[in-house]
Amino acid sequence: MEFFSVGGYSEVGKNMSAVKVNDSIIILDMGMFLPALVDFEEGGGERRNLTTEGLIKLGAIPNDKILQPLKDKVKGIVLGHCHLDHIGATSFLAPHYDAPILGTPYTMEVLKHELINERVKLNNKLIGVNPNSTYKLDNIDVEFIHMTHSTLQTSLVALHTKEGTILYANDFKFDNSPVIQKKPNYKRLKQLGKENVIALVVESLYAHQEGKTPSEKVAKEMLKDVMLGVESSENAIIATTFASHISRLKSMAEFGEKLNRKVVFLGRSMMKYIDAAESLKLVNFSKKADVIGYSDKVKRKLKEINKNRNKYVIVCTGGQGEPGSILDRLASRQLPFELMKEDHVIFSNRTIPAEINIRNRDKLERELKNKHVRVFKDVHSSGHAYREDLRDLINMVKPKCIIPAHGPLEKLNNLASLAFDMGYSKKEVKIMEDGKNVNV
Ligand SMILES: [Zn+2]
Ligand SMILES: [Zn+2]
Repeated sequence: MEFFSVGGYSEVGKNMSAVKVNDSIIILDMGMFLPALVDFEEGGGERRNLTTEGLIKLGAIPNDKILQPLKDKVKGIVLGHCHLDHIGATSFLAPHYDAPILGTPYTMEVLKHELINERVKLNNKLIGVNPNSTYKLDNIDVEFIHMTHSTLQTSLVALHTKEGTILYANDFKFDNSPVIQKKPNYKRLKQLGKENVIALVVESLYAHQEGKTPSEKVAKEMLKDVMLGVESSENAIIATTFASHISRLKSMAEFGEKLNRKVVFLGRSMMKYIDAAESLKLVNFSKKADVIGYSDKVKRKLKEINKNRNKYVIVCTGGQGEPGSILDRLASRQLPFELMKEDHVIFSNRTIPAEINIRNRDKLERELKNKHVRVFKDVHSSGHAYREDLRDLINMVKPKCIIPAHGPLEKLNNLASLAFDMGYSKKEVKIMEDGKNVNV
């Protein structure tokens, strides 16, 4: 068996790995490193002028040339969940392989929206596989194990090969009180621990963070405190989070309703993730709320909200301060809505710690403060496993070998230190670098 760390082992983003057993290769994730693209655009570059080669050069998508000589052996591309750092490069790289793309129905639905946005038509067959079920690709069984994370239908992917099982755990948290979905499938993970898990590929993002990741229920309580805690009858309320965080959006909708305000979801990416969830009947926001994606309609709605500021809750994109996002345009008065003194702006997220995000977010906060807006920050709990969750996973599945993933070397080392603490040896923990492979 060979393991290829194609992307996401030197940065948080553009995740892509591959497993080769005899003559079969399965690719795991094809993600994007968004900060590289944002940097490029802010430097005056035009995204639509970029070719796949250009995106690779920019560092925005994985460089998959290591797989090129083996491309005929690729039997499938498996996507673990719908975040862009896991699926965002699919429209560019999937054409390199004559193989189907697999993911849970929600992941596939988001991918379809993504393909439309990028104006790409793939020849690859798209196959939706329900959480907690298995699909056979050549002689490898691909199992999707239900998991909690900050978006819907996230799975840990188990590749059952005749050499043993590889478990791919990018991304996850162990949430026992998720707001929408069920608890993680611990039962199956424990079962895997009794089988032959030869390698666990696992995210390292918060391996340094002691304790257990707070549940989504905790984030909901925090949000409730902020949204319902203070009488705010005259002020505008604007809340922002990741557009793919459907559970969080649901909590926002719920508290908006409690305030007797109409909830309005604004922004193209909000619409993308909500539409995908509604088409699978996972939620039904548009029954009570407005979901508006397109620019003209957004402007029209904002004009109306501006006249009746205390009758609405605006839920929008822009929590990272992304230029061109709704919140950025609200703060810089590019939209027909005026932020006023003591309006509430709720950040139900955390700034992704990339230089460009930190800079953008600082700028946004300065603009908001200049308008004397009330800013509520970090009303959030992470979707990623802290150190004790990671320990629990390792204890459950008892892998023979651990491959830290999803971050630069310093983060991978944090996971390695946990594994050493648990009694793993240096031989059993493989620190991979992009593009390198080791034998398991
Ligand atoms: Zn990720
Ligand atoms: Zn994720």
